[in-house]
Amino acid sequence: MPLTAPDVRRIARRTGDKPEEFIRWVDRHGIDMDDEPEGFVELRQGKRVMVLRHTRGGCHYLGKDNRCTIYTSRPLGCRIFPFDPTFHKDGNLRHLKLIQAADCKYELDGKNDVDEIRELDAKTEAQNDAWHEKIAEWNSEQKKRKRSGRAAGTARQFFEFLGLS
Ligand code: SF4
Repeated sequence: MPLTAPDVRRIARRTGDKPEEFIRWVDRHGIDMDDEPEGFVELRQGKRVMVLRHTRGGCHYLGKDNRCTIYTSRPLGCRIFPFDPTFHKDGNLRHLKLIQAADCKYELDGKNDVDEIRELDAKTEAQNDAWHEKIAEWNSEQKKRKRSGRAAGTARQFFEFLGLS
């Protein structure tokens, strides 16, 4: 699950965990985000996306009873999962795609509330736009550093830049 700075802040506040403990950085082979290049952070080791770490084959925060242990603080991406909706300008649903990784027994059962999905989608879009702006700001700094012969910043420096450490 890709994360944004507000997701990380919320999880860290809830769990007391340090971002390094629940974040993993993946390259383009580790996540299907070729159509979202603005989500890649320029780090010393290359372009990476910040995702929720997996532990013992599942999400770091999946409990032994198979339930989310940070449910009320879970990332926004988890809240809209497994949907990838597209809305018309007037707010009507145009297309509802199920994210392929989902094995959702409720899919297409007609019990999902479109108003709720619309609201979540708007929140997710706004959070992602702000996140991408932040990444663009950082990436532009790293390009300048590289032009002047210095290496790009580390993940730790990126967290400092975000005010997360
Ligand atoms: S809903 Fe909870 S357990 Fe599932 S991926 Fe999100 S944070 Fe992890």
